[in-house]
Amino acid sequence: MIELAKLGAEGLRLEGTEASLPLEGKEALRDLHWSLFVLPSGADVFLEIRGRATWDCTCSRCLEPFDQELQITSQFLGSKDPELVARGSHALGTQDLDVVFLPETVIDELTQVREQFLLHMPMHPLCKDECQGLCPRCGKNWNKGRCNCPPESPKEPSALAKALSGLKLTFDNPAPGAESASRVREADAGKLDLEL
Ligand SMILES: [Zn+2]
Ligand SMILES: [Zn+2]
Repeated sequence: MIELAKLGAEGLRLEGTEASLPLEGKEALRDLHWSLFVLPSGADVFLEIRGRATWDCTCSRCLEPFDQELQITSQFLGSKDPELVARGSHALGTQDLDVVFLPETVIDELTQVREQFLLHMPMHPLCKDECQGLCPRCGKNWNKGRCNCPPESPKEPSALAKALSGLKLTFDNPAPGAESASRVREADAGKLDLEL
């Protein structure tokens, strides 16, 4: 824990390692190495967070678990000034920094590290760039070979798509017709189905 009011003008540098840091659901970061530097700046604090870790994640196309190496560097200004937070950025020296709402007087270093990892993780991790995804009809993992399902007619939505059409889903890449995008959507739909 870091008591912001007790920081000296030279700031504070902390670092550490964690064998495992839980994220959301069953996911976790393994072999985490992190460092945090916090420096008072008037009523605000400058924060620099660096970290590297292995993320136990799930491919967004084929839903297979895999390890993704992550490395982050994040610098921002923590402030409790609502006007500054609303402006969104603040020039400090030669740098233009994002401003993050930080009303706490005591901050937990691992919570800050975890938050920065969550912000910098890919929304749709892929086990490999050329991941083939799942068959939208039978659910077979196409990375392990094709199935015998007839090819999808683009005009006819799958039964799953019809079932999901009442739900409001937002996707990163909603451009229709792009093959990779539609596979991502289908895999996402499959994931949603599994979670229901
Ligand atoms: Zn995959
Ligand atoms: Zn199939």
